[in-house]
Amino acid sequence: MRRSPDWDDWRWQLRNRVKTPEGLRAYFKNLTEDEERGLELAARQFPVAVTPYYLSLADAEDPECPVRKQVVPRYSEVDPSVQVNCDPNALEEETEVPHLTHRYPDRVLITVTTMCPVYCRHCMRKRKVGKPERAISEEEFRRIWDYLKKNDRVREVLISGGDPLVLSNERLAHYLRELKKIDHLEVFRIGTRTPVILPQRFYDEDLLKVLEEFSPLWVVTHFNHPKELTEEAKKAIRAILKTGNPVLNQTVLLKGVNDDASTLEKLFRSLVKVGVKPYYLFHCDPIFGTVHFRTSIEDGLKIVARLRGRLSGLAQPTYAVDLPGGKGKVPLQPRYLLKKEGNRYYFRNYEGEVVAYDL
Ligand SMILES: *Cc1c(COP(=O)(O)O)cnc(C)c1O
Repeated sequence: MRRSPDWDDWRWQLRNRVKTPEGLRAYFKNLTEDEERGLELAARQFPVAVTPYYLSLADAEDPECPVRKQVVPRYSEVDPSVQVNCDPNALEEETEVPHLTHRYPDRVLITVTTMCPVYCRHCMRKRKVGKPERAISEEEFRRIWDYLKKNDRVREVLISGGDPLVLSNERLAHYLRELKKIDHLEVFRIGTRTPVILPQRFYDEDLLKVLEEFSPLWVVTHFNHPKELTEEAKKAIRAILKTGNPVLNQTVLLKGVNDDASTLEKLFRSLVKVGVKPYYLFHCDPIFGTVHFRTSIEDGLKIVARLRGRLSGLAQPTYAVDLPGGKGKVPLQPRYLLKKEGNRYYFRNYEGEVVAYDL
């Protein structure tokens, strides 16, 4: 791809997202039949967009490329023989306030826009995002604010979307400033994939000033593969860390993308090396359109068990499933406590050895 002089300008990246079958065909010379039919059929149902930057990380020749699999729609996304055991009409948790999900007593999730720079094929909010691309209105924000003001058990606000960092610096600062006026809100978290798919967002000095002003903001990003941790992404992370804000990462376990211990080992190791803490490894939800990315939970646990001995504790995320119906996230662990006899416990250690432990 020819690099524009504006390549490093995030707004240019957003304006020049590839959103059409022709655009993708121009980059990928050899689309597979699954991809071609995906462009025809799946793209009608789920939005397609990719920044020129993230597209440039995809292999134009190899359909097995982990970046390519995250951005090019495939027929598998809508193939009724693949997308089974999921409910395409499942309702998301509705609350009295639009764009606010209050699941746990102490924290809420707010979705301030439906827009993302890139529409990930494995997105759990795939049914909603980008259809159409729209930020919440000031009136909708006021309703969220009023709800939070009244609910003093809420201590944390997770700002998500879509991707909240597609908003202007002014909008973002406005939301943060207003939310900070509510005394019982102590912790703010921003869920964003921009360090991965639009690192140029953090070349914007004015954004960095906003991040600094409202620090600590817990920035939670979404790297899935070591290939995504480019020099540009590292520069973005360094910029965020310099503003005094911690960076965490959530990975989704995806078949054919990162479902092996050595890929995840490399990813988590590289993240820690640049100062990012792996926070969650999510099991892929049974959402219509993403079932082809799912592994079994047994396979997930095997991978997690292999990572336990190989990687620093700093680099170990919590493997979790998100229960349907808004029932919450459940952490998963291989079985380490095998049995108890009297006061003697038997544990399996990271090497598979059974070790007794007396109380
Ligand atoms: C994931 C999630 C949270 C945050 O959960 P943590 O375990 O604190 O990361 C909060 N609200 C909703 C609705 C969520 O889905």
